[in-house]
Amino acid sequence: MDVYGLLGNPVGHSLSPPMHEAGYEALGIDARYVTFEPEPSDLEAAIGGAQALGVAGLNVTIPFKQDVLEYVDADDLARRIGAVNTIDFTGETPTGHNTDAAGARRAFERYDVALDGETAVVVGAGGAGRAISFMLADAGATVHIANRTESSAHELASAVPGATGHGLDSLAALLDDATVLVNATSVGMEEDETSVPADALHGDLAVLDAVYRPLETRLLGDAADCGATTIDGAWMLLYQGVEAFERWTGRDAPVDAMNEALRSEL
Ligand code: NAP
Repeated sequence: MDVYGLLGNPVGHSLSPPMHEAGYEALGIDARYVTFEPEPSDLEAAIGGAQALGVAGLNVTIPFKQDVLEYVDADDLARRIGAVNTIDFTGETPTGHNTDAAGARRAFERYDVALDGETAVVVGAGGAGRAISFMLADAGATVHIANRTESSAHELASAVPGATGHGLDSLAALLDDATVLVNATSVGMEEDETSVPADALHGDLAVLDAVYRPLETRLLGDAADCGATTIDGAWMLLYQGVEAFERWTGRDAPVDAMNEALRSEL
């Protein structure tokens, strides 16, 4: 039996175990997906121990996504983003990857949203904002990053090719010319709120909200009201898991089974 898992602290709320295990079951793979909660000071030992015990792959979440870079051979994208969310133990040394970026890319693909040559606005400059901004630039979009703390938007923009950084007060002007909008802040998660003024939205936008609890955020409701394409955060979450699953198992993931298991938990 193969063992996969999630390394984080805390990890109790995770949707990854049911999603991945639905994938193993659909393909008849003898594997389990479990959660691990090491103390931050034990991170290096936890990764070495997992490798020694034959764990096949780990996802990584808060608070370890950045620190893990020190202990794995991270690929170029994960290094540029500055965070690893997937460790692959199938080679000689553990390798680190960031599948949040591909998760967002595949969510857009699922809705046939073009990115190459388009203008995209990313709200948020934290972990999700970083991954999504690099992905959009790599896909050929011109990226504008707006963040509550404007200096963080400028800092991120200086690392992402062709990107510009802004405060949230620039959102309406930026959205005029944009066809892609991503909310990569936690706004909308706790309360019925949005960082994006409803009157700045328009029908030519495809809007991805990284927030997946709730699935129907205020932003997506406002976007639907003006005829925009709306993509909820569970699609990004699904496809980051699908990317990890495919890397670890070398097989096409059973996307429908994983999606059904994920959505039944939300
Ligand atoms: P993070 O690193 O802590 O970043 C949080 C971001 O939200 C920052 O840009 C922060 O702005 C902004 N923010 C927080 N409260 C705000 C407020 N009241 N008004 C305006 N901006 C505010 O978090 P993260 O890891 O990037 O996660 C962000 C969201 O994405 C979370 O809801 C998370 O669940 C979701 N997420 C989803 C997926 C998925 O697969 N669907 C993957 C990763 C993350 P400041 O810089 O000004 O603090």
